[in-house]
Amino acid sequence: MEQQVNLEKQFKNDRLRIVFLGGVGVVTKNMFVYEYWKDGKLTDSVIIDCGVGFSEDGEELIVPDVQYLLDKQSYIRGVVLTHGHEDHTSALHHLLAHVQVPIYGSRLTVALAKARFAEYNLPAQFHTMKINSILQLGHFSISFVHVTHSIPDATNIIVKTPVGTFYHASDFKFDWSPVDGWQTEVGKIASVGKQGVLCLLSDCVRSERKGYTLSEETIQESLEIEVRKARGNVFFTTQSSNISRIQQAVNIASLFKRKIVLLGRSMRTNAEVAQKLGYLHFPKKSVIESRAAKKYPPQQLFFIVAGSQGQEDSALSRLADENNKDISIRPHDTIIFSADPIPGYEQQVHQLINKLTILGAEVVYSDINDELHVSGHGAQNDLMLMMGLTCPQYIIPIGGEPRHVRQYGVLAQKMGYQEDQILAPLEKDAVEFTASGQVTLLKGVAELLPVTKH
Ligand SMILES: [Zn+2]
Repeated sequence: MEQQVNLEKQFKNDRLRIVFLGGVGVVTKNMFVYEYWKDGKLTDSVIIDCGVGFSEDGEELIVPDVQYLLDKQSYIRGVVLTHGHEDHTSALHHLLAHVQVPIYGSRLTVALAKARFAEYNLPAQFHTMKINSILQLGHFSISFVHVTHSIPDATNIIVKTPVGTFYHASDFKFDWSPVDGWQTEVGKIASVGKQGVLCLLSDCVRSERKGYTLSEETIQESLEIEVRKARGNVFFTTQSSNISRIQQAVNIASLFKRKIVLLGRSMRTNAEVAQKLGYLHFPKKSVIESRAAKKYPPQQLFFIVAGSQGQEDSALSRLADENNKDISIRPHDTIIFSADPIPGYEQQVHQLINKLTILGAEVVYSDINDELHVSGHGAQNDLMLMMGLTCPQYIIPIGGEPRHVRQYGVLAQKMGYQEDQILAPLEKDAVEFTASGQVTLLKGVAELLPVTKH
């Protein structure tokens, strides 16, 4: 009893603050700073994710504003990455150009982040974590929960702090038949829920969609139907970090005994990293170099191509512009888009589809066949299941636009949450939790103060 009183006294003035440098109000540019304040002083902080976003016209990549961190460098104990997608990892070069800090994540996550980081001539310490390991970073105790998404080795993060436990549910869905067979660790989530979660930060981008998100497995059949119909070469495109989808494409190419050609630097790098670590499996001698493609007649080749978002200079855009010296698209070739346009990229994806159509190719995309892509994000039932398992006192929807946040709020209220238990910070805001149970939304905490001239 006496010990408990002391503990209460010890932590009475403690605060846990989450500063949102990205990943709120938008689906991408994920970056969250967890800060532990003791007796009014910042003591430790941990950053979760450090990803890029996309400009509204889809033309450029944007990085989070890290100015807020510059005078707090000595308190940052590490960056913890949730999974290997670009919008969670690809702004590391920008952060590390300003701040020296170690990076932690699961095996594939770290390997992909490291491969992308390699082109920048910056020092960095990457640490691969086992899913069951516990990482002590100052006052934070970090553990990982394996979740299903559209990339293997994706995780949610449990952040234990002296103020309470936070469950950071970045991108996830409950896929009971994932491509790699490794399901979400539901028992682990339920167990932390039982111990008590102060706040759940949850992916909310599919909160408008009813039911559960379909399993990745469902795509295999639709893909098979399209490839069976193909009269020429098949060009398959998806986001190049979508390793699970690439595996399905490889499986189908092998089923039809087509040789595989990987086109585009990001596609080749990601595939190489994932294959080396055993997350992507190619049958022996199934992959050939693009130079060798000429030797094969149509109907024997399956190209896996980067550039599903119509990015300028991507491998698929170059093919559409007839700007690849080894390979050209011919009438009756089939082009399969196994990705939906990221918001902002619609126009350039449509332009790309038009160009490919003019070349005579048969282009299949989500507007004419919506069974060639499933989201890696949970829909309403997945989101409610996560709330039910974690039983948080408070909820912050993340990784979604304001409309997704709003719909997530509706779902949470259906689950019995009151409006004041659901917080909706915007970029550069913070939410502060005190050990005595107060919760406050702080506006514009990370806005740069104007420099005063004397
Ligand atoms: Zn993701």
